[in-house]
Amino acid sequence: SPTIIWFRRDLRLSDQAAVAAAVAKGPVIPVYILDDETPRHRKMGAASRWWLHHSLEQLDACLRILGSRLILGQGRVEQVLAEIVKSTGATEIHALHHHEPWWRNAEKALRDAVEGEAELILHHGNYLLPPGTLKTGSGGEYKIYTPFWKSLRERMPPEAPSLGPSQLEAPAEWPDTADLGDWNLLPKKPDWAAGLVKAWSPGEAGAQAALEEFVDKAPGYDSGRNLPSEERVSRLSPHLHFGEISPARIWHAVSAEGENVETYCKELVWRDYAQNVICQFPQYGGESYREKMRALPWRDMSDLQVQNDFAAWTMGKTGYPIVDAGMRELWVTGWMHNRVRMIAASFLVKHLLIDWREGEQWFWDTLVDADYASNSVNWQWVSGTGVDSNMFVRIMAPLSQSEKFDAGNYIRKWVPELADLDDPYVHDPEEHGCKPASYPSKIIAHKAGRERALAAYQKVK
Ligand code: FAD
Repeated sequence: SPTIIWFRRDLRLSDQAAVAAAVAKGPVIPVYILDDETPRHRKMGAASRWWLHHSLEQLDACLRILGSRLILGQGRVEQVLAEIVKSTGATEIHALHHHEPWWRNAEKALRDAVEGEAELILHHGNYLLPPGTLKTGSGGEYKIYTPFWKSLRERMPPEAPSLGPSQLEAPAEWPDTADLGDWNLLPKKPDWAAGLVKAWSPGEAGAQAALEEFVDKAPGYDSGRNLPSEERVSRLSPHLHFGEISPARIWHAVSAEGENVETYCKELVWRDYAQNVICQFPQYGGESYREKMRALPWRDMSDLQVQNDFAAWTMGKTGYPIVDAGMRELWVTGWMHNRVRMIAASFLVKHLLIDWREGEQWFWDTLVDADYASNSVNWQWVSGTGVDSNMFVRIMAPLSQSEKFDAGNYIRKWVPELADLDDPYVHDPEEHGCKPASYPSKIIAHKAGRERALAAYQKVK
């Protein structure tokens, strides 16, 4: 009987333990199911859906070269997979582990739905170490990043990445499949995805190409990673999120570049750390971890002024060039430089005193790398509400951040109204008296925003 390979955020064939295990058994049926019901309000956002469409297309093309194909189903995973089990007589379903809380429920439902007919077998491989593996000296879970990193580093390098199969045996009969085009994952009108098309090549080959392009920059990552005007980071995050490349492959490729790559490896480990956090606190995306911070008096989103401020932030019209450049880069490309993510997020939460969950949701919809764990862990880090986080009272000054990290060219690229302004004027045209009429005034003065945030914090301190 054939074996099912159930793909989720692991859309690759090489160094993919579920693929390797299934292929070793004989004929395989590769399956992807679009399930918007199981994650409920956490169903994929628009930018992720765009990525998914192209990544599935690529996966299917790779499978076809090897004599197979991708079967598509839509609906609750346990129902769709149970039907495929019935119609094909498959007795095993192989998949990689995923740790978002909704998958745990779905896996249980699936086991119930196929009981007596097929077995669900889960493998590791989307993280450097299976989340939950590392334990503190007293046997507990790590909550803080630095000891987590130190402990993980002891266990590195990960196993060398394996090659993908050279051929896949087809089953005697293929089950029915849906048509990717019918899923409407791509935008219709207006077509906001032109910038995404230019910026990205989803799929395993695109991921490998991005790694190759980055790898010799890895030793310079430490000095360049905070400079948004330069191309010094790997841009691997959406490929990693969709599992088009394994972190073990990245670790090995980067390590081959010599000794000055620890900063990069350390950053990669934030991804493992974030998973580790949501395994312990599955609701991390939905509420502040620190109890006292849950009472922080955020501004009321039903107030029109607050709605306008939030809209200005999303559209990149706050009057703070570094924030606006970041928010426009996000809108056009589905990605934003990490330093600018921190500045833009901090501006929303502190200067505008808007609940971090509003920003997290906006990122969820617009990022091509939107990831339940990484997004919520980073938002809570910036907001000072998380298990290991920056302090709320440490308020980033967007204008000095912009100067410090030399964001002039980045701003001129993403905010065309300011394209003719030189440094230092471009960082704060209003202050220098050279703000073009087409560019908005600051929606709140830095000092006023800061004081309001500190006053709100006093109420929960
Ligand atoms: P590089 O600097 O080249 O780093 C390599 C890889 O390490 C990344 O691809 C990523 O997988 C991982 N990584 C690096 N920094 C972090 C980090 N702080 N947390 C977790 N993983 C990290 N990252 C996401 O993948 N998805 C998200 O939804 C997400 N939301 C964020 C929200 C906020 C408010 C902030 C401040 C950061 C967020 N990040 C998120 C983390 C980080 O900004 C991105 O991973 C990074 O910018 C991706 O670009 P890169 O691939 O060039 O990263």
